[in-house]
Amino acid sequence: MVDFSLSDEERQIRDTVRSFIGKEVMPLEDEVLRNERAGRPGLAPDVIKELQRKAKKAGFWGINTPEEYGGLNAGAVMSAILAIETGRTFVPFTFGGSADNILYAGTEEQKQRYLIPTIEGERRSCFAITEPGAGSDARNITTRAVKDASGDWIINGEKTFITNGNEADFVMVFAVVPDAGVTCFLVDRDMGWKSEPIPTMGEWGPASLVFDDVRVPHDNVLGEVGKGFELAMQWIRNGRFMIPARAIGAAERLLQMAIDYAGLRKSMGHLIGEYQAIQWQIADSQVEIEATKWLTLYAAWRVQNGLDARHASSIAKLNGAEMANKVVDRVLQIHGGMGYTKELPIERWYRELRLLRIYEGTDEIQRRTIARNLLKGHVRLGGIGE
Ligand SMILES: Cc1cc2nc3c(=O)[nH]c(=O)nc-3n(C[C@H](O)[C@H](O)[C@H](O)COP(=O)(O)OP(=O)(O)OC[C@H]3O[C@@H](n4cnc5c(N)ncnc54)[C@H](O)[C@@H]3O)c2cc1C
Repeated sequence: MVDFSLSDEERQIRDTVRSFIGKEVMPLEDEVLRNERAGRPGLAPDVIKELQRKAKKAGFWGINTPEEYGGLNAGAVMSAILAIETGRTFVPFTFGGSADNILYAGTEEQKQRYLIPTIEGERRSCFAITEPGAGSDARNITTRAVKDASGDWIINGEKTFITNGNEADFVMVFAVVPDAGVTCFLVDRDMGWKSEPIPTMGEWGPASLVFDDVRVPHDNVLGEVGKGFELAMQWIRNGRFMIPARAIGAAERLLQMAIDYAGLRKSMGHLIGEYQAIQWQIADSQVEIEATKWLTLYAAWRVQNGLDARHASSIAKLNGAEMANKVVDRVLQIHGGMGYTKELPIERWYRELRLLRIYEGTDEIQRRTIARNLLKGHVRLGGIGE
């Protein structure tokens, strides 16, 4: 049986998060725009801390974190539903209390040093695989890790476009170990890597990281030597559905702005919402948002149930990234010249949502994955459910 309903508890969690975002987070949007336009971070660290304190008090801490680590353990589907809610605002806020999924693969000692402090918000991580010469082609990274006589690893290479790379105090970095393959290392900033912010068209800039003979103890290998690529793919795979989830929230908020404007703005004696040209843009947007919603929840459901979610996640991510970009463009168009100004937040969203078509697998790479799965017979058409 296909069941689209939420349990009473799930509905209550969703509604409480929606109301938290509406009451505590959205009112900060003007402040974020003012700060960003003055070249400052959207929210000052103490404002973020205060929001997180309130979120913690309301019980929203570690939404997808296992209960044994103090989290809500809400599962992938609920995480997607809550990401839709948080996606309704561009305020750079996350509930906190969560850590990168691959840190659970650490030893007990690594969990104490990296996983738990990250969950508690005391440490900040970043994930570094992309290099100047290897983005989509991640298997061809050239950063190297070589063991020296003392048993430590010496890492050399450069990473680029690393989210939080300038703020993080440790990095999960992927490097090639000769004769063994890609390996993941947990490397504290004070072990010697350097970072440099990269200005982008969006508001949160990534960074480049340089490893110049950075010495790392063997205990800092995450998982097994030579098994890092699987960890990297696990990181991406298990979180990919969160990208279209946030896109749905943003697109619904933007579409509501367009609907409101279409009911207010007059041109040639009529409300613009009376013109078919505007109505069709609104209708197409809702159709595309709904499609992404169900594709995303299906991908999350596969993750939650331990099923292979790669194909479904690629479909959801590709669809969501394209949908969000089409919707924000239409919403800007419906607002005419006002849509292009900085008086409204549409242009900010327009810049931010453009990234969705690039990171964590470009549109082209998702299409490549989907086509290859079909052409090689890994996935067959005509299935419904599992
Ligand atoms: C803001 C931002 C944040 C990011 N955060 C992180 C992060 O935290 N950690 C991290 O490791 N990386 C991160 N990235 C990197 C991101 O994942 C890469 O930029 C992305 O995978 C594309 O790689 P590239 O930029 O090298 O483009 P390229 O791989 O050089 O691609 C260039 C163009 O060629 C196309 N192309 C490439 N190969 C093929 C192919 N086989 N078939 C068809 N078309 C192809 C691409 O789709 C693209 O259109 C981030 C990037 C940005 C912009």
